[in-house]
Amino acid sequence: MKNKIVNIPQVESKAKTHSVILMEDGSYQVQSGTTRNTYTVVVDPVIRCNCKWGQYTKSGIPTACSHSQAVVAEIASQSGYKAKARSEEAPLSSLKRKVLPHGNGVVFTLRLA
Ligand SMILES: [Zn+2]
Repeated sequence: MKNKIVNIPQVESKAKTHSVILMEDGSYQVQSGTTRNTYTVVVDPVIRCNCKWGQYTKSGIPTACSHSQAVVAEIASQSGYKAKARSEEAPLSSLKRKVLPHGNGVVFTLRLA
């Protein structure tokens, strides 16, 4: 699969610096903690971001850029979960966790916060 994210921990740390605002239309406005640029992330039918990464990802395929990851973390935390981004190839522990495929070689595992 092309467009795999290989530096998942770095992307996840970057995602933690973004601020996420839910808009009235159900999309999310994500402001970068580093550049202050604002991006729009939609979650339906798949999570998509309008940043450069998102523009290079074929439509219909979820984007796993730091902005999308920030939105996943936000949605998870509102349901009382802590989301952790991992490589889809990394072996998951035997703990039963919810696993969300996220595209670009990334999955999220959820545990109660
Ligand atoms: Zn993005």
